[in-house]
Formats: sequence, C-alpha cells, structure tokens
Amino acid sequence: MLKSTLAASLALLLLPAVAGAATLVYAGHLIDAVGSAPAAEVTVVVEGTEIKAVEKGYRAPAAGDTVIDLKDATVLPGLWDMHVHLTSEYNRGSQLESFTLNEGDVALQGAFFAERTLNAGFTTVRDLGAAMNASIALRNAINKGLVRGPRIFAAGKAIATTGGHADPTNGWAQRIMGEPGPREGVINGPFNAAEAVRQRYKDGADTIKITATGGVLSVAKNGLNPQFTEEEVRAVVTTARDYGFKVAAHAHGAEGIKRAIRGGVDSIEHGTFMDDEAIRLMKERGTTYVPTLSAGRWVAERAREPNFFPALVQPKAAAIGPQIQLTFAKAYKAGVRIMFGTDTGVSAHGDNAREFRYMVEAGMPPLEAIKSATIVAARFMDVGDRLGSVEAGKLADLIAVPGNPLADIGVLERVRFVMKDGKVYKDVRAP
Ligand SMILES: [Zn+2]
Repeated sequence: MLKSTLAASLALLLLPAVAGAATLVYAGHLIDAVGSAPAAEVTVVVEGTEIKAVEKGYRAPAAGDTVIDLKDATVLPGLWDMHVHLTSEYNRGSQLESFTLNEGDVALQGAFFAERTLNAGFTTVRDLGAAMNASIALRNAINKGLVRGPRIFAAGKAIATTGGHADPTNGWAQRIMGEPGPREGVINGPFNAAEAVRQRYKDGADTIKITATGGVLSVAKNGLNPQFTEEEVRAVVTTARDYGFKVAAHAHGAEGIKRAIRGGVDSIEHGTFMDDEAIRLMKERGTTYVPTLSAGRWVAERAREPNFFPALVQPKAAAIGPQIQLTFAKAYKAGVRIMFGTDTGVSAHGDNAREFRYMVEAGMPPLEAIKSATIVAARFMDVGDRLGSVEAGKLADLIAVPGNPLADIGVLERVRFVMKDGKVYKDVRAP
C-alpha cells in the first residue's frame, strides 16, 4: 500500500511536463466487460500504452490532449479470439500447399491475415497451430512493430500422435512421409510427449496445443477416435506446467475429450460429441470450452460443394459441422465455462466476429458472449490484471462499433475503430 502510494507520488512528480499528452476517447456507450450494463457518455483517458482513467461525462481536453470522438458508437475492450491459425486459410488447394509453400510464403500469408484480424477488432489471439513455427515469427514481428496484427499467444506446431490429426505427413505417399518426431509435433508415449513440449519451449512458444482425437480436415478417415492415451496427455500437461504453459486439446469424440480432461488440459477445442459425463467432468475440473462454431458452420457449408474437400474429408465435414452448435447450447446451459474461439484459418480471416451471432443464436446472452471474448479469455491466459476490460491500469486495447451490440450482436461485425496498446490502427468513423 505504502509502496504504491509512494510510486504514485513519484509518478506525479515526474509527469507534470507531459501531463497534457493524454488521448481522450469519448464513448457514447461503454461496455467495459466487467460491469453488467453499458455506461453512457464516458471518457476513457489513455496515456502511452495504458488506460489511466475511465470517467463519467466527456472530460474537456487540456492543452496537448487528443480527442477521439466516438460519441455515436459503443466502445468495448479489444476482442480476443482464442482459437485461430493466422498463417493459413483453408482452400481447395490446401493439401497441395503443404508441398509447394516455403517458410517465407507462410510467414507473409500470416502477416496479411494478422492485419485483417486486427482490423476486425481482435487485438489478441491464441494461435493454436502453425506450420514451420511461423506463428512464433509472426508474433515477434508484430511485437517489434514490423507487422500490424494482434497480440499473439502462439502454440507453434501442434502436437499429434503418428497418423493423428496434425501429423504433418498425413495423406502423403509412404516414400516421402519420413519419420516426423517430437520436433515436428509427432509423439508416441510419455517420454516423447515431454520432449515435444520442451522443444516448443525452446522454439519460443507461449502455449501448447494437442490433437486428442481425429479431426475434420486431416486426410484420414476418422474424425472422432481418441489419438492420445490418458498417460500421454498427462505427460504433456505435467511438462507444460514446468514451463508455465496452458494446454489446449482439440477433441471431437467423447472418449478423447474425457481422456484430455482427466489428463488435465485447460481447454477443450470443438468438443463436438461431448457427452453428459464429459460435461460433468469439465465443470468438476474447471476445464474451459472453446466451441469454434464458425468452423462447424464453414465446413458444413463447404461439404455441400462437390469436390471442395478430399474424398476422405467430405463425410466428416458433413457430420461434424452441424453438431457443434447443438453441443455448445447444451454445454452452456449446463454451466460449462465458455471461451470465444473460431478456428479461423478454417473459415476466412476477418470473419471472426460472426461467432458472436452463432453463440447468441444458440442461447448465450450477448453480454456473456462479449465477456467470453474479453475478460474470460484474459483471465484464462493469466493476464486479467492487464487486459480484457476497459479499466484504469490496463493496457489500452479498445474498439468501437456502431449501435448497441447488446440489442444487435451483428454490429460487432462492423468494427470502425481499433486501438491496441494505446496506438490507433483503424479509424473509419463516419464524417
Ligand atoms: Zn484449429
């Protein structure tokens, strides 16, 4: 207490010469993501990278202050998408691209998609799997200010088992498969699992992703089967804890979902066929559910287009896609903690906010959906004291949308203003 008072008075002594250099953001309405209702006519005072104050009314600017007039808009915290793949976007040619693209191609794609994501109002993302660790390079380039994009928590290359979802050589001819191992994100047994996690630490990853069951888009016939033993999951999780990593588990089938939860993962991604026991286990263990409804919609739509997917993928896309939203509705009603995530990179980058519509359609109130994409996500990543809401002392990540998202959630798809770390990246206010 004494220490912070002292620090505050020191700061006052040091500041007077630049005391005028604030940015005053006038918010017609503010959804701060921690309160229960929007506040009307608020000034968010930003200095440097931080929110210094949130004040009722429109504070008159002092000399040197900059005013950003968003009186006709609703201001919210920067949004979080907790499941993206920034360095790729699925298309008809995706299978071939694993042979034709070089590191540079993947990295430059990532730079393009990162800017789109930021422009859509997403100031932070968790990237859950990238080829050649391009997401880590992208994060570094964004942090250096070389590329415009969101703050990234990167998993690097996801961890799979041999032939499993995210084995990078699935569907290749045997003579070119080689023997991908822990470095490439393919493990068998707990010993290997620990090595793969440590390799990711060495690579500079922020978090860990495993593929606990089959998946829709891998060129393999089963999208649901368990692909990790519980022992393997536990080895990943135990090692991850040593390095401060959270573990996310891609999982569609009930058995693989339950092994992942019992093995101690922090989040279940997709969770398509979770049964009542899985729901009970998630509540008991505090496991978070990231539904990725956008991916479900997208693959179900594409599955109706002839020859869009490889023959092994089409039936999985048709079956799994439509189920996710039903599962989400059930899990939400049962009280499982929900966190916003789209699996963008399956669907198109920049369309991330459509997920809000799907969540609300399935019964989640708009304010809760917004919190799942802000404060809930920031707390999950253990940075809730610095990010995830509009409060004094937090980093200045702000967005603005026209109208009231609590009345029409669709306005979140029309982001007009984006500030990250106190810097304005997008400003297309109507004149
Ligand atoms: Zn994914």
